[in-house]
Amino acid sequence: MTADEHPLTVAFDADDTLWHNEDLFLDVHIEYEELLSPWAEAATVDDRLHEVQMTNLPRFGYGVKSFTLSMIEAAVRISGGEVDADRITTIIGYGKRLLDRPVELIDGVEEVLDALGHHRLMVITKGDVHDQLAKVAASGLAERFWRVAVVADKDAAVYGELLERHGIDPTRFVMVGNSLRSDVLPVLELGGSAVHVPYPITWRHENEHDGHDIEVPTLEALRDLPQLLRGWDGDGKLAPGMAGPAGIGGRYGAHPA
Ligand SMILES: [Mg+2]
Repeated sequence: MTADEHPLTVAFDADDTLWHNEDLFLDVHIEYEELLSPWAEAATVDDRLHEVQMTNLPRFGYGVKSFTLSMIEAAVRISGGEVDADRITTIIGYGKRLLDRPVELIDGVEEVLDALGHHRLMVITKGDVHDQLAKVAASGLAERFWRVAVVADKDAAVYGELLERHGIDPTRFVMVGNSLRSDVLPVLELGGSAVHVPYPITWRHENEHDGHDIEVPTLEALRDLPQLLRGWDGDGKLAPGMAGPAGIGGRYGAHPA
């Protein structure tokens, strides 16, 4: 297929862009706070859990399984070693609930992919390979995508390598996602384009960056993406006048952006 037949490569983040994710994490956070309430207040529980997660990230990577291990480790620390086996079992159950969750598509996803079918469509998601590929399979969307990439992290080096490997010209590449940190900033750094579609809830870690003032096309709903891309002017810039507020503050813990 020629570039003319596929005017752009449009890549989608998965969690909280194609399907709901963070809403269930929020539910689990609230239950976890309650579970550890004998030892600490909710904000303290969140802070300690976040510290453990960030310390573990280089070892465990992203995903539910690493989150579950971090919840257990943080529970032991927060309780000063008093947390009991019933509570540990409950925490493991949180992880299983997150993994077993049925895929619930974001409103309008299928129509958007239909409308953009003349472009080359990709998924670029980070996290646990087994879990992410299972969600892609369960979504019923897999056949619509030219490529599905599950990566360990989403920084400029990883995007650069992906574009190189798949022969994608950065000036004809658009990344669509809910995270400025993971879906927007590194792609802009490479000379690509990005569209921010915030999800109502943002994981605190995804708000830890210096790009909050950046002007980037921002959509209230994924449904508006085909119209935005129709304004593509062919030289690597999206239609003007679409820049919006750069993101919604994170909920977890004491210092959302
Ligand atoms: Mg996401």
